[in-house]
Amino acid sequence: MDPDIYENLKRIRFEVGEAKAKYRKSDDDVRIMAVTKTVPYERVNMVIDDGITLLGENRVQEFLEKKDHYRSNAEVHFIGRLQTNKVKYIIDSVKLIHSLDSMKLAEEIDRQAAKKGICMEVLAEVNIGGEESKSGVPASEVRQLISEVSQLKNIKVKGLMAIPPVGKSEESFEKMQELFCGLKADNAGMEILSMGMTSDFALAVKYGSNIVRIGSGIFGSRK
Ligand SMILES: *Cc1c(COP(=O)(O)O)cnc(C)c1O
Repeated sequence: MDPDIYENLKRIRFEVGEAKAKYRKSDDDVRIMAVTKTVPYERVNMVIDDGITLLGENRVQEFLEKKDHYRSNAEVHFIGRLQTNKVKYIIDSVKLIHSLDSMKLAEEIDRQAAKKGICMEVLAEVNIGGEESKSGVPASEVRQLISEVSQLKNIKVKGLMAIPPVGKSEESFEKMQELFCGLKADNAGMEILSMGMTSDFALAVKYGSNIVRIGSGIFGSRK
């Protein structure tokens, strides 16, 4: 059943490996995330069994319906827009939130994490193209956000995430790499640069991504 998923994974692994060999240090780690929106849990489990244990979830409700069916070795990250009133539903079951885009959300994550006695790790989402339709903070405000979040006890910023404007992947990734390097210099614990999707993941690897988030390239196009 579904030989296409295995073929897709094989190709993606090969292309990530190729880009890594060409542009990165040999000990750099680039993780492949399977983005699961609209995909039934049975198909998600196929990729987990094939060794892709990192999952990206976009929708709180959909995730809550599927999570108990996932293999127990899955590591789940939340990558979609997150409303403050939904934080409490996922705080327990995700390892990293990629979509921190405001101080208000940071405060709620901090509050819910404190209740559970945990420290929640997050990425600051950067609106690298300055697009009105996209979430994320403007590149010029990221430093300020990270500095304010560092005052909170139960949340920690581990890096950056971005979704570039259509057709502007390369220039956006280049800007993100520069921003990330600058922030890394004076923020301990900045480790993760999450960028690259089905159409541009190899390019993202070139510019320092260490998590590529791939949906349709693995599971086929979404209906
Ligand atoms: C859907 C989605 C992806 C994956 O997109 P594909 O083009 O299907 O690979 C990656 N990141 C985020 C935040 C998404 O919402």
